[in-house]
Amino acid sequence: MFLTMSHLVNNVLHADQMPVVDYPLEQKTMPKGYRGKHRLTQRDDGSVKCVACMMCATVCPALCIHIEAEQHENPAIEKYPKVFEIDLLRCVYCGYCVEACPCDAIRMDSGVYTIFASKREDFVIHKEQLLQMSPQYPEDARPKQGMPPLTES
Ligand code: SF4
Ligand code: SF4
Repeated sequence: MFLTMSHLVNNVLHADQMPVVDYPLEQKTMPKGYRGKHRLTQRDDGSVKCVACMMCATVCPALCIHIEAEQHENPAIEKYPKVFEIDLLRCVYCGYCVEACPCDAIRMDSGVYTIFASKREDFVIHKEQLLQMSPQYPEDARPKQGMPPLTES
């Protein structure tokens, strides 16, 4: 009780030193590397880099990634995601999808941490939205991993 009262009195007398922010008027600056909203990366020609291997959907503990694969016209690529959706209401921001991706096609470096919508279905982000997201720190773009460069056959 003494501890509680001492914190209460201290906070009232020194409101400016309280470890809270006046959200949403004031927002914290998140540390570099903090996981934000997902984005899908693109090849140099603007096409989606994802090859619909389902690794991210398989590893996702919240089962919130939905992918529908389609045959790619380029046999060297084989598949691409006709549908790629993430239900942000179920996502726990663990980052497993990013770690599991063999071709650096999904990242959580958008720097977008606030999500809001008025309907549940609007929290499901689609491929087109994921492709429109940009990296928060473009200069930190990680080198391409895993797959060798694709060549036209
Ligand atoms: S961050 Fe975790 S919970 Fe969210 S989509 Fe990726 S694997 Fe699933
Ligand atoms: S793991 Fe990567 S390449 Fe595979 S489906 Fe997910 S985003 Fe696409």
